[in-house]
Amino acid sequence: MEDLLHFPRIRIDQRGPVDLDRYSTDLGDDLRKKELKDSLEKDRERISELQETLHAQGHHALLLIFQAMDAAGKDSCIRHVMSGINPQGCHVRSFKAPSSEELAHDFLWRHAKATPARGMIGIHNRSHYEEVLVVKVHPEYLIGQSLPGFTSVQQADAAFWEGRYTSIREFEAHLARQGITIMKFFLHMSKAAQKERFLERIDEPSKNWKFSSGDIRERGYWDQYQKAYGEAIGATAAPHAPWYIVPADDQWESRAIVGRLVREQLEDMQLRMPEPDEAERAKLAEGRASLLSEMK
Ligand code: ATP
Ligand code: MG
Repeated sequence: MEDLLHFPRIRIDQRGPVDLDRYSTDLGDDLRKKELKDSLEKDRERISELQETLHAQGHHALLLIFQAMDAAGKDSCIRHVMSGINPQGCHVRSFKAPSSEELAHDFLWRHAKATPARGMIGIHNRSHYEEVLVVKVHPEYLIGQSLPGFTSVQQADAAFWEGRYTSIREFEAHLARQGITIMKFFLHMSKAAQKERFLERIDEPSKNWKFSSGDIRERGYWDQYQKAYGEAIGATAAPHAPWYIVPADDQWESRAIVGRLVREQLEDMQLRMPEPDEAERAKLAEGRASLLSEMK
């Protein structure tokens, strides 16, 4: 179990070609749901403790980015891994199609505004990566972005996308220098598993609200998305902003893996509760003396 959850293979921290077909969407081991749940439960408790220290120290921040095809379980993964965390120390932002105000700005604007403050864990459900994923699959969206001199989708060539990858790399390197640790999760699900989940959303009345007919249309672009994901991951993986390709056909597996990776990352940050210096210790002693001398 411990070994199964310890995956150097799913971490990509160097640039280079990435062929997603070579990454597993399912560990294929018969890890029982109970074992995975127990593992997640333990990791969650530890994450909660470490988050408190992160918050008390107030120097570092953790940014968790979740990307996936529709119905891969981003929302439930975030909910399961982060439940129990002090809500004051963590915030979740979901990024949908940009508003007109967002479109009037550079494409990183809304994401830069949503980065976590020092001491916080920020979770981005979709992210700036959509700009090299859905927008790459549908370059016609670029027309709505009012880019200078951009009048035809033909202009979205390899150099154009390389420019966007460069912007993303530089943005993330800047965040890292500012003390923000970045983890990027791609929940990697097979096309067959997506079909099952869509059917469930259609057949199960309590899940109907999660279904949108647009999801079926986007499924038609499956191969283009997989290619765009591979290219984005390969172009933006770095030691300070690694990608994790998390098998996601079994949702308990992906939750347990993400839980373990987040816990390990927080442990690696070697967080310490702040130690009071001499002046602070004097103030504590003063406060104590004052409380003890109060008349009943
Ligand atoms: P769920 O799994 O519950 O469906 P979701 O993240 O897919 O959650 P939706 O409201 O269904 O949420 O979809 C958000 C949509 O917004 C996605 O189709 C995504 O591709 C799109 N989107 C996000 N960022 C951008 C962007 N920068 N440009 C264009 N579309 C974007
Ligand atoms: Mg959706």
